[in-house]
Amino acid sequence: MSQKRALVTGGAGFLGSHLCDALLAEGYAVIAVDNLLTGRRPNLDHLRNEPRFEFRKLDINEPFDCGPVDYVFHFASPASPVDYTVHGIDTLKVGSLGTFHALEVARKYGAKYLVSSTSECYGDPLEHPQKETYWGHVNPIGPRSVYDEAKRFTEAVTMAYHRYHKVDTRIVRIFNTYGPRMQLNDGRVVPNFMKQALRGEPLTVYGDGKQTRSFCYVSDEIEGFIRLSKSSEHLPVNIGNPTEFTILECAQHVLAVTGSKSAIKYEPLPQDDPKQRRPDITKARTLLGWEPKIDLEAGLRLSLDYFRKALQEETARA
Ligand code: UDP
Repeated sequence: MSQKRALVTGGAGFLGSHLCDALLAEGYAVIAVDNLLTGRRPNLDHLRNEPRFEFRKLDINEPFDCGPVDYVFHFASPASPVDYTVHGIDTLKVGSLGTFHALEVARKYGAKYLVSSTSECYGDPLEHPQKETYWGHVNPIGPRSVYDEAKRFTEAVTMAYHRYHKVDTRIVRIFNTYGPRMQLNDGRVVPNFMKQALRGEPLTVYGDGKQTRSFCYVSDEIEGFIRLSKSSEHLPVNIGNPTEFTILECAQHVLAVTGSKSAIKYEPLPQDDPKQRRPDITKARTLLGWEPKIDLEAGLRLSLDYFRKALQEETARA
């Protein structure tokens, strides 16, 4: 049997790079592409001597072709609220132009296709927990719209290629995920709190800290992607951890895991910050036999070494 080849867009990103590892473990040859806007080459350093792995720096907002592939995993996009606010136009472009180009690759080579979508499709949800059938409550012109609408458009293009061109597509709606290889300064809550706790600085809680999120450890999340990649479900599937925490509770867990004595400092809530977020994962459980195994404290413990090292490197660079 000839070796299967997978293409990962956004392969140098947090999730993209972990996905490359998982696909190599599944026996694929992997080609990762990334324009390194928010992705980082060091996320792939450990694969330098892996003969089945190749990295190409390229911008998928232009048409591209890296030769025949059996599977396209489209994971390219800024993903943290700070990153997609700074890179708003690029975020819209990669969700639209980039998605067309990734789908064209799948169409050309008859490859299977899986795209990363997001719980942001649900916006500031009025239905709780969020099922895949919920259409969402999204501000189409607010500061988060560059990401939310890009991803909703991504889903629309993906379904259109499935319906009109018969591309064998899958859509994963990703909820808050954390773990090693997150950028220390991407502004998301876990890296922010870990960095602040390890430095003994106050933890910045936005608003009253009563808003909720449900945090999935990266290895659980990736296992969900791999299972979905092997299924033939074309409609979106939520992959996330259904245990919900307030942001204040998240801060307490970070303090417990790091042993930090940092105080809590309240700062203004960003505009349109969702008040609650929790996936209904009945579909993933039934369809894929998937559910997360690692709870928040265990996952934070597993991430601690990474954040310590990242912080040391940052301090050494300063
Ligand atoms: N948040 C916070 N302090 C921070 C960073 C984030 O209180 O230093 C809050 C943010 O307002 C939101 C939640 O934590 O309610 C999750 O934010 P994040 O940026 O990680 O991702 P989001 O789920 O909003 O995309």
